[in-house]
Formats: sequence, C-alpha cells, structure tokens
Amino acid sequence: MVNKSLLLLLIASFLSLSPIEANGQRRGKQQPPVEQESHIGTSPKLVVGIVVDQMRYDYITRFWDQFGDGGFKRLVNDGFNCRNNHFNYVPTYTAPGHASVYTGTTPAMHGIIGNDWYDKESGKDVYCVEDSNYKSIGTNSNAGQMSPHRLETTTITDQLRLHTNMRGKVIAISLKDRGAVLPGGHIANAAYWFQGGDEGNWISSSFYMSDLPKWVKDFNAAKSVSQYKKPWTTLKNINDYVESIADNNKYEGLFKGENAPVFPHDLPSLWQANDGYSMLKFTPFGNSLTVDFTLVALDAEDLGKDNITDFLAVSFSGTDYVGHQYGVDSKEVEDTYLRLDKDLERLLKALDKKVGEGEYTLFLTADHAAVNVPQYLKDLNVGAGYLDLGDLKDKLKEFAKFTYGTDDLIKNISNSQVFLDHKVMHNLDLDPQEIEETLAKELLGYPKVYQVYTGYQMWQNGYTKGIANLVQNGFNQKRSGDIMIVLSPATLTGPKTGTSHGSSFSYDTHVPLLFYGKGIQKGSTVRMTAIPDIAPTIAALLGIEFPSGTTGQPISEVLE
Ligand code: ZN
Ligand code: ZN
Ligand code: ZN
Repeated sequence: MVNKSLLLLLIASFLSLSPIEANGQRRGKQQPPVEQESHIGTSPKLVVGIVVDQMRYDYITRFWDQFGDGGFKRLVNDGFNCRNNHFNYVPTYTAPGHASVYTGTTPAMHGIIGNDWYDKESGKDVYCVEDSNYKSIGTNSNAGQMSPHRLETTTITDQLRLHTNMRGKVIAISLKDRGAVLPGGHIANAAYWFQGGDEGNWISSSFYMSDLPKWVKDFNAAKSVSQYKKPWTTLKNINDYVESIADNNKYEGLFKGENAPVFPHDLPSLWQANDGYSMLKFTPFGNSLTVDFTLVALDAEDLGKDNITDFLAVSFSGTDYVGHQYGVDSKEVEDTYLRLDKDLERLLKALDKKVGEGEYTLFLTADHAAVNVPQYLKDLNVGAGYLDLGDLKDKLKEFAKFTYGTDDLIKNISNSQVFLDHKVMHNLDLDPQEIEETLAKELLGYPKVYQVYTGYQMWQNGYTKGIANLVQNGFNQKRSGDIMIVLSPATLTGPKTGTSHGSSFSYDTHVPLLFYGKGIQKGSTVRMTAIPDIAPTIAALLGIEFPSGTTGQPISEVLE
C-alpha cells in the first residue's frame, strides 16, 4: 500500500513537470534531467526517412550472413523490426509507394495512383510530379520541371514544417525526381534528384529555389561522381555469393554493347552506348553517389544541429534499376545489397558524428518489393508468366465494338485499369454499370486475368479484406478508371528478363520496416503492419499533427 501511494506520488510529479516541456520550451539548467521520462520533449534532432526502391523483406534475411555489423544488422539488432509489413493497396509502383510512406494513407486518398496515368480531365497521359509551371534548376533539360502539385494530402514532412513554424528543415534526396519530390511534401526547403546523360549533376526545380545553393554547385563542379566510371566488380569473392543463381543466366538483361550479363560490368567501355552518367543508376554506385551527396547536405544544411527537429528524406533508387535489369535472384542484386549495406554504415557513422548517436530517429522501408523473374519461376514449375498487353487491348476493343457498335467507348487502358468514355455512353443511352460489368466479365475470360472489379463496385461497397480491399485502397474516385484488372500471380507485362512490380501479391507488398534511434524500442513484431502506419508513428513520436489524409495507425510497439 505504501509502495503504491509512493508510486502514484512519483507519477503525479512527472505529470506536473511534463507540461513545461510543451512547445519545445527548454528547461533551466538547475532542473533535474527527468524529461527523458516524459513523452513530450523527447523529439529527436533529426528524423531520417530511408526508402530503398524495390526492396523485398527477405533481402534482410537472405543476405544477413553477408552483411557487416554497421548497416542493416545495426538497424535490426538495435532498433525495431516490423517483420510483417505490407503495402495495402495496388498498384505497387514507385510514386504511390513514396507518397503512401510519407502521407500515411493510400492512393484512394492522396491521389498518386501511378507513376504515370491517364488524366480524365485533360484526356492526356500525365507524369506524377511533372509541372510545366516551374523551371529546371541546375540542368539545361526539362528534368527539373517538377512539383508535388498532384499530391492531394499533406506529408509527415509538411506537418513538421507547419508544427515548427517553418523552423524545422526538410531536405529530400533521390536519384529519381519522384523519390525526392513526393517525400519532401509541399513545403520542403529543397528536393534534389540526379540528372544523368552527359551532365551527372544534382538538380532541382524552381518550385523550391531560384538557384542551386553554393554547396550543390560546388559538389557538381567537383565531379566526384566521375569516380564511379569504373568496372563494376563484386564487393566480395563471387563464389561466396551462394544466395543467388549463376552470374550468367537467361533471366538477366544486358547493358547495350554487353554480350553476357556477367561481372565485371565494364562501365567505361559501355559508357557512351548507355547514356553516360545515367548508366550509374543501374549499378550500386547510384546508391553510393546518393550517400556522397547526402553527407554533404547534412553538413552544409546544418541538419540536426539545433533542438528543432529537421527531416532528411533519402531514397535509394539504384536497387530498383538493378532489380529491373537483373532480377531478384541475380548476383548483381546480391552485390548491390552488400554494397548498400556499406553505404548505410557510412551514412549511420556520419549521423553519429554530426548529429550524435541517440539524437536522431531513423526509419527504413521500401516503395514496393518485386517478384522473382517469372520465367525463372516457370522453369521451376511455379505458376508464373507474361501477358501481352497489346493483345488484351485489341481483344477488348474488338469486343466493345461488336457489342456496342462503337470504336470510341474505350478511351485508355493503363496501370491495369480501363477508362471508358462517359460522354459516348451517355449519348448512346448506355447504362455505365451494365457496360462495366459486361466488359469486366469479358476480361475475366482472357488468359492471365485473375480477377476484375468495376468502378461501380468500388463506389457501392466498402471492402475490408483481400484483393478487393487492396484495389479499393488504390482506387481514387476522381482519378481512377472504370474497370480494374488483377493479373494472375507472378505475371508481368514487360520484358522477359529482369523483374518488375505493381501487383497486390505478397512478393510485391511485403517490404522491410525498420525503426531505429531516439524514442524507438528495441524489438520486433510479426503482427501485420501497413505502410500508412509509418507517418502516424513518426507523428506520434514527434507529438505533431498527423498528415491530413492519414488512414494508418501509430505502431505502438515501436514507441518507447
Ligand atoms: Zn520503386
Ligand atoms: Zn549476372
Ligand atoms: Zn521499379
């Protein structure tokens, strides 16, 4: 009894102390350092968000024995590992992935329904972050004409900017424009991406700035990126890469001018034929040069130097380009992850030194995963295959013409969605619901079409499980099509070498989610978590408002 009342007294004294910490007010030096115990006041100096493009969860476990102690292993051993973390929508592409990580919701809400999509209003194909209202900064090309204007809801980075009255800095970096622009949100101080070709520079958009800062100009001028114009050899003895299939196999793509997909990949001799600096994206060096630039940004922008939380968003795109070219089981992918592990270690060491060990919070996830090369699976008698999209489109159009007597009913088929012309339906006095169902049933009869859903179903129902739920989470009423096609498991529509992604199946949805650093518990869970849970978890840690469209939940096990 005595102990209990003592405990209550202690709790009461903590509660009475904690409000002093509100609004980031600093406690006087004479106060005891009890604020560690209170939730408010534990904000890290820096949040580092890392997205590894096309990283499967099992890359952590498959390559575990090959990793060093300072990269992935450090994050897993000293942080929190969500081992059953998934995307909860389709399509699992790069732009929706980055948008969902940072907005805490899905395409149904944030509006980024693909990398490119057919825009119903203009009748044109649009790219997720293109914006001709802005000028390129740092390049003569149009590669800088980008903004987040199609992102409909706020990001965790937006909320940090708003919460700190713009005193907390947000810097976003990626080889890919969309890998930087979407994580940066609408109020980022800067987003930078890489321009290949004969330039090899980090560039931006006039959306963020009128000119590159001096440190970026200096970085570009120093041309340190040229150090990577060298043969890509394996980091370790290739014979030790027992986690992947033979280097020379029929499932891998080739650089132009290369005769076999084998090490060493001789970048200098292949350079001109493969668009110069753009070639680096298809090697692990793309990630290394991303870290090089990030470390300079950390210094030059004074990130994590004061007590107002900053946010550094980094996306590693090299992994995606390598995966597309060589496939999940290649020696090239294994080498890329062993080298990424080294680059991560380099980044963590710099954060320890510049921000301070225990002073920053980091999360690492992916924007989607990827399937084993379907032809490889087929050769192992696992159901898999390829679909010729051109064939599917021709057949469906022919059917529509035969049934409804018009060539104009189907406006567009893209991202596994069919867009119908609603004016044509109206003029011909056709019932949209009936047409959707008829075309959907026709599609279901085609090979490799696994399931179909109509826009009408998406409007009428609230699906809580299964593929229908994932389709609905990806279905944006304003932007999505009229019929949604789900392809059979392990079916790709692209080239027969290398891999891709985009489906609702586990091989595309299951991705790493690691938390590490200030305010983070050590441990792991196999409870299912979802990508939209990341932003509210970070918001809860920082004590800031959730992004406007948040549908995820904070992962309570992660927070101390
Ligand atoms: Zn991606
Ligand atoms: Zn190979
Ligand atoms: Zn990709």
